[in-house]
Amino acid sequence: MPSSANDVRKELAKIFKTEFGKSADVVASAPGRVNLIGEHSDYNDGLVLSMAIDRRTYTAAGRRGGDLFIAFSNELGKKTSFEVIAGRFEHSNFWVNYIKGVCALLGEAKPIEGTNFAISSTVPRGSGLSSSAAYVVSIIEAVSSLYDIKLKDIEVPVLARRIENEFVGVQSGIVDPFVAKFAKEQNALLIDTRSLDFQHVPISEDCSILVCVTGVKRALATTEYNKRRQQCHQALTTISEKLGKKLHTLRDVSIEDLRSVKGSVDETLYARAHHIVTENERAVRTVSALRKNDMSMVGKLMLESHMSLRTHFEVSSPELDAFVEIAEQLDGVYGARMTGAGFGGSAICLVDSAYEEELSNQIAQRYKMVGFENGMVFLARSGMGSHVERS
Ligand code: ADP
Ligand code: MG
Repeated sequence: MPSSANDVRKELAKIFKTEFGKSADVVASAPGRVNLIGEHSDYNDGLVLSMAIDRRTYTAAGRRGGDLFIAFSNELGKKTSFEVIAGRFEHSNFWVNYIKGVCALLGEAKPIEGTNFAISSTVPRGSGLSSSAAYVVSIIEAVSSLYDIKLKDIEVPVLARRIENEFVGVQSGIVDPFVAKFAKEQNALLIDTRSLDFQHVPISEDCSILVCVTGVKRALATTEYNKRRQQCHQALTTISEKLGKKLHTLRDVSIEDLRSVKGSVDETLYARAHHIVTENERAVRTVSALRKNDMSMVGKLMLESHMSLRTHFEVSSPELDAFVEIAEQLDGVYGARMTGAGFGGSAICLVDSAYEEELSNQIAQRYKMVGFENGMVFLARSGMGSHVERS
């Protein structure tokens, strides 16, 4: 895998030329992300604090005319041709459906002719680092630029979400494409998923993020994810009844409200609500700690978040817990937690930059020693939102 973004970009230009015999007209890219805090908060109208990483997906595109679309994915090593006919889709997590979805929806605004695509990425796929949002946002940016379709910034993540929901069949939220569009380097992004208001929160250059991709396929993820959504909804209904108040989402429940119904709500539902309510509070406290450059506090809140996801929300896994346990014992580590929906996927830890290389090696070694051979640990810098270059 090429080491830097620039290498990937250069290699992609070559790939495009080899595959299609001419240069691309446009290259767009978008980043993967890690959530720093605010997990499972998006479908409860909560707060999410996320950060784009310096791993990106690049989409090179060129007009070919006619009705035929051809796409090549460097990572999958696959080339496929297809026609885009809106309203007729096989709804599956097939990589080409993302491209078909973009062309079908953008084609409602302006006719889109046959196009060549080449894709290359450094975002690990299916690992909770949101390769799908990086992928779909880079395609939206490439196609809208290629056909001069003017989109408002906010329309990009809204479309991305529709494509994942309607064309790929994944019940994903807006946060991941939102970060892929709006992130700024050296900043985290606080998103209020109720209003879609957001703010950039600077992160000190003295700290770094280590990412651990557990390599565990998230087999349970879809069923358990849907179950958690349902349980949050049930918790809300019960808590509303007990309090005699009309509440719209768990965002409306205060900690005092929650405590007042303890014992009269089913234990599991109470635990789920407890995670969501306290996670919103932790997100607010994390932002104020970041603003004060109090990294120890940020780390402490990350760890609390992990424990809450582990015990109250029950979405962690042995691989994620092992990483967090290893990381938190080491000097120079501020805190660690799982990131993304859970059941495998990835975990992160926040470290003092002065020790980043040493810690990265140590953690990777110890992680293997406790038996998790498939894990991969890498250093992530903050990344920027989507970007388009026209030639
Ligand atoms: P995550 O977003 O956590 O990485 P998802 O299952 O949501 O996991 O998305 C992974 C899917 O996105 C892949 O199975 C594939 O369909 C698509 N995808 C992501 N990156 C690429 C790529 N570089 N080339 C082709 N398809 C990709
Ligand atoms: Mg995804």
